[in-house]
Amino acid sequence: MNKKDLLMHATSFLESLPDNTISAELAISKKVVGLKIYDAPILAIGNSQDPYFRLFKDETIIGNHFILPEEWLPEAQTVISFFLPYTNDVRAGNKTAPFWPAEEWLHARVEGQTVVTKMGQHLQAELAKAGYQSVIPTLDPRFQIRRSTDPGEQPFASNWSERHVALVCGLGTFGLSKGLITARGMAGRLGSLVTNLPLTADERPYSEIYEYCTQCGACVKQCPVAAISIETGKNHLRCSDFLDETAEKFKPRYGCGKCQVNVPCESRIPLSPASN
Ligand code: SF4
Ligand code: SF4
Repeated sequence: MNKKDLLMHATSFLESLPDNTISAELAISKKVVGLKIYDAPILAIGNSQDPYFRLFKDETIIGNHFILPEEWLPEAQTVISFFLPYTNDVRAGNKTAPFWPAEEWLHARVEGQTVVTKMGQHLQAELAKAGYQSVIPTLDPRFQIRRSTDPGEQPFASNWSERHVALVCGLGTFGLSKGLITARGMAGRLGSLVTNLPLTADERPYSEIYEYCTQCGACVKQCPVAAISIETGKNHLRCSDFLDETAEKFKPRYGCGKCQVNVPCESRIPLSPASN
């Protein structure tokens, strides 16, 4: 099994997955019945021994609670990171509502996470069929998210970060809004697996962690609660508090994602501040 096989499995799985389309039973309103959540996936391969994983144990990056690939799976050889890009309908929906999340986005955030879980489990099953072990860290009983109220820290510090892992694997770089800018942009969801399948790691097409971000400031203007600033970066607590508000208002769903739409990094790597 190689990277091409994995991508083929992921693509055909998504094409046939009923959960990738919002059913009449789940839909918040008639408008979103039949909404397709994701377009075709992209994925990247990392070496489990990449020195960047060890760097994440540094308290100034993630912290000692970060669990290394070989701690999830002692025989680990490879980390597979995938990105599912939101469809134009999901992104366009969130542009029509300037403050609160659109129905399309609420579905993409919540039902879309079910798709990410099923995608990980499908790839895990394909690896098992080929005779390889794997762990999906975010579904493992050891996975933890720690809440912090320190304004200088991420409000949710987890022992496996999909964005950091995707950065190592070569999927993309961070943006000012702290999302990951991939070849298919930032609007979408990430997932990953650690496996003992030996694969050649992708070469990272960048050398800086914010390389794809032009610092254009479009996400600053998009944020309904001024949680992003060119000068000071992202106020994670303010963002998190707003997400809590949406969770209360739109129960059982939540979300925002305004910083991922109407921005040059929405569905591609921005070329320059003037390219939007
Ligand atoms: S909108 Fe501009 S500043 Fe914000 S993350 Fe995207 S490229 Fe960077
Ligand atoms: S998710 Fe919403 S609240 Fe959080 S930074 Fe982005 S636009 Fe602001």
